[in-house]
Amino acid sequence: MLIGKVALITGASRGIGRAIALKFASLGADVAVVYGGTRASALEVAGIARQYGVRAEVFQCDVSDFASAGKTVAAVREALGTIDILVNNAGITKDGLVVGMREEAFDSVLDVNLKGAFNMIRHTSPIFIRKRAGRIINIASVVGLIGNAGQANYAASKAGLIGLTKSVARELAPRGVCCNAIAPGFIETDMTRHLGENNALLQSIPLGRTGRPEEVAELAAFLAQDAAAYITGEVIRIDGGLGM
Ligand code: NAP
Repeated sequence: MLIGKVALITGASRGIGRAIALKFASLGADVAVVYGGTRASALEVAGIARQYGVRAEVFQCDVSDFASAGKTVAAVREALGTIDILVNNAGITKDGLVVGMREEAFDSVLDVNLKGAFNMIRHTSPIFIRKRAGRIINIASVVGLIGNAGQANYAASKAGLIGLTKSVARELAPRGVCCNAIAPGFIETDMTRHLGENNALLQSIPLGRTGRPEEVAELAAFLAQDAAAYITGEVIRIDGGLGM
């Protein structure tokens, strides 16, 4: 259970982040639903979360902006008292072959997916260090482990996020803070909707199907709870076997 814990989840307005926020709320956590642009969706998530009897507030934040991340962490603390769990889930794709990739497509994906996680960790880690407790869960991707043609920027950001995870895990372990990464495969969200019923893709997944956001949320919930207190610096694939 997560009763009495406060969880900040970025990109919680949609997809995997939404599922994580609702799973955490169902386990008793107060949730900070952090969104980029879709306020109405974030408000809806917070409304559903409150039905579990927890506190849930929405916060607008561009995670790629260091100052915006700092203001958001301060605002969450002000509204919910503290932060016990940080889930770095906000992410974007701008796919294309490297031979034609625009500089902006590379920079913006790195800024959101990798620097965004750094920004949030940078601003929350002083809270965790003071408490001598805390959980950081970074949503990476199987693509960060095995690469993917057409996703050089995205794969680089997620591989970087895995390096960030392990370094932060080493730095904060003496302070009782655990930092882990989840590496999902193809999960049914807005991000992957354009892939449609791609049979070649499904054939490449040993379990023969795509995953659901709720399945990733179950894993995030495990990493956030006491049962996972001895796990840090780990990268757990949830990909139907795609990356093995
Ligand atoms: P999604 O449905 O496209 O949702 C993305 C979320 O990120 C939205 O809540 C969006 O907020 C937020 N976001 C985007 N840019 C932001 C910014 N600059 N600042 C703050 N928030 C921002 O994506 P998803 O499929 O759930 O993916 C969630 C995470 O899982 C991502 O890190 C993604 O890379 C990773 N992942 C996904 C898959 C997959 O197959 N879906 C596989 C592996 C890894 P707004 O809507 O408010 O703009």
